[in-house]
Amino acid sequence: MVRTLIAGNWKMNGLAASLSEIRAVASGLGQGASGREALLCLPATLIASAADIARGSALKIGGQVCHAKPSGAHTGDLSAEMLADAGASHIICGHSERRADHGETNVSVSMSAAAALRAGLIPIICVGETLAERRAGKVAEVVLTQLEGSIPESASADRLVIAYEPVWAIGTGETATPEQAGEVHTLIRSALRDRYGPAATDIPLLYGGSMNPGNAAGLLATPNINGGLIGGASLKAADFLSIYRS
Ligand code: PEP
Repeated sequence: MVRTLIAGNWKMNGLAASLSEIRAVASGLGQGASGREALLCLPATLIASAADIARGSALKIGGQVCHAKPSGAHTGDLSAEMLADAGASHIICGHSERRADHGETNVSVSMSAAAALRAGLIPIICVGETLAERRAGKVAEVVLTQLEGSIPESASADRLVIAYEPVWAIGTGETATPEQAGEVHTLIRSALRDRYGPAATDIPLLYGGSMNPGNAAGLLATPNINGGLIGGASLKAADFLSIYRS
């Protein structure tokens, strides 16, 4: 049975004062609902404190990026091993903001996902088209190329999460309809089946792009949408918990 994963992406938001939101999420989740997981991917500065708060609850804590190497002369970078050591269980790899702002490519995303796996973490590999690519009828080509190039050889179906995040829906308030998202998720599932066989059925496929308490239920009820990667609406415990309970 595929697990449902409700994952928050705090991006570059959150100071020590925001740990009260993490506390509220952890206590609101309690032992969690069966078959449903909750994860908050935080700025690295908050991971260790948040992991302490989350211990014993159903909440997991993740990172947002990692270097390909385990250690070395890479000033300012963080390795997957460091994030694991701080208490992370997952890492977002290849978010469109990283691809756009830091020139991450399918090759570098695949290397950081391999690093996550090496460190015992689960990579959440992000793919998604821009508005121009959608208008040009290139959704399938773009998404499938990113998918093929970003998943490392070392990945297996039981330690992999894919997030479909149309770039035009991220942080814009414009959400893909369940039909638009479902169509792409079905394509992704089929490509994963070609790669992993029947085990691909259990890979959680998350939708990301302005998901909120008002639209989550419709998206999450769509075949092949097994959760969400949520930016803005994950910053407030009440909104995140409301999506988790959708
Ligand atoms: C994201 O950061 O991955 C995201 C989907 O952001 P938002 O929910 O704010 O659109």
